[in-house]
Amino acid sequence: MRMVDIIIKKRDNNELSKEEIEFFIQGYTRGEIPDYQASALAMAIQINGMTTRETTDLTLAMAHSGEILDLSKVVSIAVDKHSTGGVGDKTSLVVAPTVASCGLPVGKMSGRALGFSGGTLDKLESIPGFRSNLTTDEFIHQLKTIGIVLTGQSADLAPADGKLYALRDVTGTIQSIPLIASSIMSKKIAAGAQAILLDVKVGYGAFMPDLEDARRLGELMVEIGRLVGRRTVAILSDMNQPLGHAVGNSLEMQEALETLKGRGPQDFKEHCMVASGYMLAMGGLAKDEKLGRQMAEAALASGKAFSRFRDFIQAQGGDVKYVDNPDFFDRARFIQRVESPHSGYLAEINAREAGETTVLLGCGRARKGDPIDYSVGVIVHHKVGDKVTKGDVLFTVHANDEEKLMRAKAKMLAAHRWSDVPVMPLPLYYGTIS
Ligand code: URA
Repeated sequence: MRMVDIIIKKRDNNELSKEEIEFFIQGYTRGEIPDYQASALAMAIQINGMTTRETTDLTLAMAHSGEILDLSKVVSIAVDKHSTGGVGDKTSLVVAPTVASCGLPVGKMSGRALGFSGGTLDKLESIPGFRSNLTTDEFIHQLKTIGIVLTGQSADLAPADGKLYALRDVTGTIQSIPLIASSIMSKKIAAGAQAILLDVKVGYGAFMPDLEDARRLGELMVEIGRLVGRRTVAILSDMNQPLGHAVGNSLEMQEALETLKGRGPQDFKEHCMVASGYMLAMGGLAKDEKLGRQMAEAALASGKAFSRFRDFIQAQGGDVKYVDNPDFFDRARFIQRVESPHSGYLAEINAREAGETTVLLGCGRARKGDPIDYSVGVIVHHKVGDKVTKGDVLFTVHANDEEKLMRAKAKMLAAHRWSDVPVMPLPLYYGTIS
């Protein structure tokens, strides 16, 4: 078999066989297939798509590119959660410790920033010392002892996804239903949780701007979960405007800490409580998601969730003085508030523009492995539907470079739209697939 023939076959919109998909994934994982051929195939998939059968084969080949953990031998049930990627989406930082503190173990493999969307690992690494490259033994030990692990892809677990994910980030091949579905589900299958909650984002700041595409992505992942015997539920959630207020790594970490202390923005807190409710119900700790939500709220209010987060950061080498006192986080050199140039009702705060603004400030990568700037980002002070008066502070930019600060201000202003007539707030959810 030759890689070039596989690329040509997909370029000409033909269906790849299981053997061809396995040849690609195994060769790429071993380093025998170079990045340029993998990029060409990813682009052909991005343009021509894949059938459900091809996507399932790709998912399984990626999951089997490393070890497959069986967490049922370690804990009675572990539930995983994964977002398809959004702007200001720091949900895992709150949900994982909340449900873990209710007695439901969470062992999770997270990702880095991808395109305009942030990544949980980058946010966690804004805490100095935090390690996201745990070995399988460390993963299992931590899950048993403190009931929560968030780590990155390793050489042991779904290494093919680790390589492909970084390649897609810099080759314009992110927004593809089969590539997203296989990336997410291969990690979830390899990490061994028996139940999986998928947070499928839809809107300007999601990889699926269209509700129908988001639904197809959710259905495909739920179907793959069913085929491999993992209970999978997908919630379709809004990503037209940033989630919460903060967008940018350490800014989001600080907002997550606030939320874990029972404060934090209302929309973000609500989303975290709903997701936690589902996870607790899926893990059998609550009769249904409503009761699960009540448990999650109690965990937040009692401080149990915060204290579990602190234990988790400490276990993975992070300096807990940042958790105890967020004033330790580095601050950007320029912090500038920008006022609303108009009065009216906010009709749009385009999440994609906000995500791209943070990338230009230094939150994203232009090439694989590029360093990122943890301290930069934006804080949006309003939500769609809010009434603002000319001169109210609309957003704050945190930048380390004056020229980027200017560009960020202009881009963020262009992300806002005003209306003279009242505007309905955006819904948080568009449905559930199970
Ligand atoms: N999250 C992932 O893990 N993979 C994708 O491709 C997109 C979002």
